Amino acid sequence: MKTVIYLRKSRADEEAETIEDTLRRHKEILLEFARRQPDMNIIRVYEDVVSGDKLYARPQMLRLLSDAESAEFDSVLCMDIDRLGRGSASEQGLILETLKNNGIKIITPRQVFDLNNDLDEDYAEYKSFFARQELKMIKRRMRSGTLKSINDGCCLWTAPYGYRNATVNKRCTLEIYEEEAKFVRMAFDLYVNGGMGAQTIAYTLNSLGARPHRSDHFNRTSIVAMLRNQTYIGKIVYNKKSTVKKGANGNEKQITVYHSPDEWTVVDGLHEPIIDKETFERAGEILSARYHRPYHDGTVVNPLAGILTCAKCGYGMQRRPFNNKKNTTVHLLCQTKGCCKSSRLDYVEDAVLDAIRQKLEELRSLKAKKRKTVDYSAAIRELEREREQLKRQKSSLHDLLERGVYDVDTFTERSKNISERTAALENEYSELAQKQKAASLSNLEETIEKYENVLRLYKTSAPAQKNKLLKSVIKSGTYYKEKDWGPKQFALQINYKDA
Ligand SMILES: [Zn+2]
Repeated sequence: MKTVIYLRKSRADEEAETIEDTLRRHKEILLEFARRQPDMNIIRVYEDVVSGDKLYARPQMLRLLSDAESAEFDSVLCMDIDRLGRGSASEQGLILETLKNNGIKIITPRQVFDLNNDLDEDYAEYKSFFARQELKMIKRRMRSGTLKSINDGCCLWTAPYGYRNATVNKRCTLEIYEEEAKFVRMAFDLYVNGGMGAQTIAYTLNSLGARPHRSDHFNRTSIVAMLRNQTYIGKIVYNKKSTVKKGANGNEKQITVYHSPDEWTVVDGLHEPIIDKETFERAGEILSARYHRPYHDGTVVNPLAGILTCAKCGYGMQRRPFNNKKNTTVHLLCQTKGCCKSSRLDYVEDAVLDAIRQKLEELRSLKAKKRKTVDYSAAIRELEREREQLKRQKSSLHDLLERGVYDVDTFTERSKNISERTAALENEYSELAQKQKAASLSNLEETIEKYENVLRLYKTSAPAQKNKLLKSVIKSGTYYKEKDWGPKQFALQINYKDA
């Protein structure tokens, strides 16, 4: 366990002692305590000699918090828990919240505080200190303040193309940025009056030197988003999506939920419109008459969604219905004009399934060959021996400190070195353990089952389910096709999850 020591003088300390004496005495107590813990490695000591109440007056605490964010250690050792927080409840909250979110324990010579364990016996004590309720209230107050500003027509997010963020009468809003706004007007004009498609408009704007904010060029998608963006008629739209944190503690992925347009909240903004209402509505009518899927409403219609990218330009391949005179065929298309030639979606789907079938055959023959598995146990035993050796080195280090051979700086330096070697060793250890597991037959059998599952269920599944099935075995893939290639001629490169 990588541990740091935090030291600071508190008002309760004996007045007669100087700050330096107090800190030195505390450091000795804590190092002695650490020595008696079997798996504690002290990697750094933070000392705040300024006894300020405000967080900004405690530079070492700020450093500790930023190191905590980069997960450099697992626990903080201090004299008692109120050494960490002092000052306003919100600052205590910030410190503890940061440690908690990074899974860092607080250890005092008297007890261990695991902030992620609500059932910790010491929870009551920790809670009274944390002033948790107060922190919650501060957050709630901030949130309702935000909502009120938006309802008043403020813009609290990054300005869309054509605007710049501005503050007018102390309120956040947008100002028209003429250099970009002219391209917005041009896009609407070309779409509504010029009969031009979104892709051609993107092309035109790019060739005139227009550059969107978050990408190096416009494409069909960004032009359609522009034509749909109500900001341009002076509105503020929010509640389009919400994010749900997966798992209460941990850095797991967030889930984004997209709301349907009738759930959105639209208010009059404080900013000036760039486009008049009639033009905007006309653009909307043309858009819905065409084939564009305007917004992602959470349902997947493309079974290959998020799986294939174009081998030439790297953009995602999109599903796109083509209307001929008589019928509609659904194609898979690169978003970039003039890039890879498109193919019928069902042809590509069949090819992907063929590839999976082939991969399944490979896995089956691998299984047949793999009767005698590689044995990693000797290597693992060797690592265990090294681990024992490091432990012994660590304990002799403490003896050297105790006998006065090492001063504290030398000690922390050496101790840090041992802890780094230990970490490297643990890494290697878990890698080997994983390999050992992968080498076992049961694992391969599970994988084979997954592939069989995909092939068995695919044809009868709905597009969203098909997509899920494919993603259970495929990590990513690319699509490539030359201009003069036939309908069923294209090159797929598929990366599987179990390589
Ligand atoms: Zn492409």
